[in-house]
Amino acid sequence: MELRLYNTLTKKKEPFRPLDPANVRMYVCGPTVYDFAHIGNARPVIVFDVLFRLLRHVYGADHVTYVRNITDVDDKINARAARDFPDLPLNEAIRKVTEETEKQFHADVDALGCLRPNVEPRATEHIPEMRAIIEKLIEGGHAYVEQDHVLFAVASMQTYGRLARRSLDEMLAGARIDVAPYKRDAMDFVLWKPSKPGEPSWPSPGGIAVEGRPGWHLECSAMAWKHLGEQFDIHGGGIDLVFPHHENELAQSCCAFHHDRMANVWMHNGFLQVEGEKMSKSLGNFVTIRELREGWAGYAWPGDALRFAMLGTHYRQPIDWTAKTLDEAHKTLWRWYGDLDGVSAAPAAPDEVLALLADDLNTSGAIAVLHALHKSGRLAELRAALMFLGFSCEQLQLQRRSVIGTTLEVEMTNAPIKVIVQSLSEAEVEQRIAARAAARAAKNWAESDRIRDELAAMGVVLKDGKGADGKPVTTWEVAR
Ligand code: AMP
Ligand code: ZN
Repeated sequence: MELRLYNTLTKKKEPFRPLDPANVRMYVCGPTVYDFAHIGNARPVIVFDVLFRLLRHVYGADHVTYVRNITDVDDKINARAARDFPDLPLNEAIRKVTEETEKQFHADVDALGCLRPNVEPRATEHIPEMRAIIEKLIEGGHAYVEQDHVLFAVASMQTYGRLARRSLDEMLAGARIDVAPYKRDAMDFVLWKPSKPGEPSWPSPGGIAVEGRPGWHLECSAMAWKHLGEQFDIHGGGIDLVFPHHENELAQSCCAFHHDRMANVWMHNGFLQVEGEKMSKSLGNFVTIRELREGWAGYAWPGDALRFAMLGTHYRQPIDWTAKTLDEAHKTLWRWYGDLDGVSAAPAAPDEVLALLADDLNTSGAIAVLHALHKSGRLAELRAALMFLGFSCEQLQLQRRSVIGTTLEVEMTNAPIKVIVQSLSEAEVEQRIAARAAARAAKNWAESDRIRDELAAMGVVLKDGKGADGKPVTTWEVAR
């Protein structure tokens, strides 16, 4: 079976030809571990899990290496550690935050039916590789030391900008926002920087006397090199990573190892959006995987429902997130799994499904075939196809969350799910928001998170922002 994959580098769908069919190698940028992952973060995890399964099918399960890193050095992690564990030394606090978050992440993506990658390297365990890349770049004239920083010299690479296909002017406009005195050129980016007192730090490369820490882009170049070699087959992540993250990874690796390619195929998933905007932590318009599993819009949703809702759209298209999509996904699976009770899987997923997946992961097309299989009673094939796509096929439960003063009826078949704020008046929501603001003012984060989660379980989503006067304000809306 021939795979065809869309390559961001060439802007074309191309036949996939691995460098070594006995070891097909894929790297996907993983989470920064400081907080629960939201369902936008779940999208690349699910999409590349489907690709991983397909590659294992085509090349053999022992002939695919999937690496997804864990970014455990980052300003957001430091801030979270200082906030949550003010009495611990920072390094210890950081370890607590990253270990805890990594566990949560695994539990969440396991529940979404995602296989674990073969390797999940942590950035902090690859500092020697990062230093080695920096030394190679300095030696080759691609990097320089300035004021205890090491910078990548963008002008030293003629093809810089090739992946993002941005003009120099566009990239410069972005870079000018952050002109630092240690940069020779506004577009140069940090490979290594000095650590502030108390921050994690390691001996620096390039003859720098003070200790420092790596830049984000460098981490992935180092981990991909260590686990997949100087060149590999597929590099993936969300579309927001194309520039600058992937452009810079590519620049570092190509210049350090003297190749014209880092990965042959670059693949990027589109955004999960809320009302046309990217779901993100900073916009406050997010739902965590954990909330969904434990209580969102009044229900604890099975992971399969999110997976199904996600795969209903082609991975390069944006998805507009609504409770209705999730509800419909759940109902479809609920009905199918009921009908599949006692039916064993056919020996293989139908060719038609595989052919659609092989065509740049046409999961929405594959799901249309699944509907047809159900309709025509080809249930053994339906089960095989669902299992191929990573679904549990175990009868789903939609659990009602206990909600203060509210009775919920779960209608599994026809009626859409009712969002349940009827019994919570606006004044009651405002009262809880005020209690949360008070908890935050007293730095009682556990209580503030508890109130936010409690409201979320009732379908009320809080958005933290700033008012016209610059002071923090929290607004709310009903998740639908
Ligand atoms: P981050 O933790 O923001 O670095 O994101 C981890 C991964 O999730 C990256 O591959 C991002 O591109 C991806 N991602 C973040 N937000 C979204 C979103 N709203 N929709 C789809 N992918 C996203
Ligand atoms: Zn990366």
